[in-house]
Amino acid sequence: MAQYKRVLLKLSGESLAAGSKQGIDTTRLHDYASQIIEISDMGVEVAIVVGGGNIFRGMAGSAEGLDRVSGDRMGMLATVINALAISAAINAQCPAIQGTPRAVVMTSTPMESYARYYDALTARQLLAQGHIVFIAGGTGNPFFTTDSASALRGIELQADIMLKGTRVDGIYTADPERDPTAIKLSRLTYQEVYDRGLRIMDLTAMTLCQENHLPIIVFDMDTTGNLARVMRGEEIGSIVS
Ligand code: UDP
Repeated sequence: MAQYKRVLLKLSGESLAAGSKQGIDTTRLHDYASQIIEISDMGVEVAIVVGGGNIFRGMAGSAEGLDRVSGDRMGMLATVINALAISAAINAQCPAIQGTPRAVVMTSTPMESYARYYDALTARQLLAQGHIVFIAGGTGNPFFTTDSASALRGIELQADIMLKGTRVDGIYTADPERDPTAIKLSRLTYQEVYDRGLRIMDLTAMTLCQENHLPIIVFDMDTTGNLARVMRGEEIGSIVS
């Protein structure tokens, strides 16, 4: 039995690349697709925001001499590529619902021949019908991140929780990949995230979640079955509320 009715799942672009950091790893792609289908089949309404860091980040472009707005637009387009990839992997495994693919891609900027133009009402209707809804293209604005897009869409779609799937199994006092003394924090408040200077997401995203009471679970999405474990209420990650 799932603990949540509607979730906003944030997947980082880098996770999609698996070990190589760039591009899309096919094994990871199909694993993510299967995990998402598993929770959708449990009856959970699943909206997804994907990052684009495995393809392009605006800040990296700035470092190479590109103007930030062009770089950020490239980054936002990268998120559309990732959403098309995961949605195609889902639709390859699932039948359509009354002629509409199970996974539907919406974009924050109109791209009509590729995807539907996002609006919250249509997204909510699709979710209620059992579709898995990707919201790609970030917020549609430069100088933001896909974490902020996730917080924004999670609030707008009245999700019960924002799930941040990462390669680490929760929130630690320091980066556990670098600091062996880092301790896992299973439950914490938004204020503790600020006070401890924890870099779970950017501050714009954190503030949006705090002000609108959207709890966040950070968990390891790279272990098959973990997404369903979180849905069943197993405490395998860290929760901020
Ligand atoms: N981006 C943006 N506005 C948004 C969301 C994303 O300009 O609302 C751009 C930005 O350049 C960012 C890139 O898209 O670096 C990819 O997104 P992000 O870095 O959040 O991806 P992730 O790190 O999750 O893979």
